[in-house]
Amino acid sequence: KPSLASLDASKLQVTLADPTLRTVPDEVAACTGTETICTDHMITASWSLANGWAAPELKPYGPLTLMPTASVLHYATECFEGLKAYRGFDGKLRLFRPDCNARRMLMSTLRISLPGFEPEELEKLILELMAVDGPKWLPKSRPGSFLYIRPAVIGTQPQLGVQAPKQALLFITASFMPKMDAPAGGMKLHTNPEDMVRAWVGGFGYAKVGANYGPSLLATQEARERGFGQILWLYGPEGYCTEAGASNFFVVWRSKEGQLQLITAPLDDKLILDGVTRRSVVELARERLQGELEVVERKYTIDELLEADKEGRIVEAFAAGTAYFICPVSHIHHRGTDVLVPTGKSGAGQYTSKLKSWISGIMYGNEQHPWGVVI
Ligand code: PMP
Repeated sequence: KPSLASLDASKLQVTLADPTLRTVPDEVAACTGTETICTDHMITASWSLANGWAAPELKPYGPLTLMPTASVLHYATECFEGLKAYRGFDGKLRLFRPDCNARRMLMSTLRISLPGFEPEELEKLILELMAVDGPKWLPKSRPGSFLYIRPAVIGTQPQLGVQAPKQALLFITASFMPKMDAPAGGMKLHTNPEDMVRAWVGGFGYAKVGANYGPSLLATQEARERGFGQILWLYGPEGYCTEAGASNFFVVWRSKEGQLQLITAPLDDKLILDGVTRRSVVELARERLQGELEVVERKYTIDELLEADKEGRIVEAFAAGTAYFICPVSHIHHRGTDVLVPTGKSGAGQYTSKLKSWISGIMYGNEQHPWGVVI
């Protein structure tokens, strides 16, 4: 087989947009519309089995063209990523650990039979897009603001055979998002209905494929109608706690022996996403809260949580992910039982607050740290 072209950010072809066509909205306008407001440009790169990756293009944001028979529209051959670009309080633009997102995207891509690439090249393309659109969309006058970056790969081959697509498209958009502040009073979680699971052993819950999200909307919608924000997804007859909506889930509790622990579901049974925020929380807690609390990645059940609550051992709980960042959880409802989690006077417990301020300090340049990648 001849060697095929690999994804190569240095081949980027640039066609700039008319800058007057898209304007940066104010926060309110961005909340009221029904369409995501994207920046001036996007990046695309097409792939075919015959030729490999074509030169990526940076071009004006606009619609994609797909045949109705495209693989993605029928067989969910799609995966995506989500990360943010931050305007720091030191005036610099940064990404947070984009190498983690690029590697995770490669993992998801391979899981869904889409073409591989060097994660470093994806990272470079994300940086290119932000170097062009960042200054306008994250003006220096708005420190503390961010853009949401959405890379995705889809199978585009226009053929209805159930097979790995021989054509694909990678694209990266960046969108304006109002600050998703933690819901007042904390996030309220409702466990999943008994007849629904998000992921299963041997499945693909660990991959960021679109096929994990569409089918979860029904449960989330029902929970919202009952006044809850997200689903706490349990797994198996044991009711293992896994994830909270599109976030990882953490509890600070005292073990039966009285040890203060930060507990979260493990990655090894491949049920949950290896969240970049989760990873950062685990790593920083191990480093900076050493001696104060123990970080535990293990399977734990909703019954353990209910028991800890009855015995007054729950200290804090929070959801961690790019969208809601680190968000205190105040209430968990499970089949007729309610757990009210302390959130402290300031709305977040002390460990939740500490972890949040350490990580946001790195994102917004209050602390110089290798995780904050300057654009
Ligand atoms: N779990 C799921 C299912 C998610 O979709 C996300 C969001 N990517 C997360 C957890 C959190 O991951 P991250 O911290 O990388 O945003």
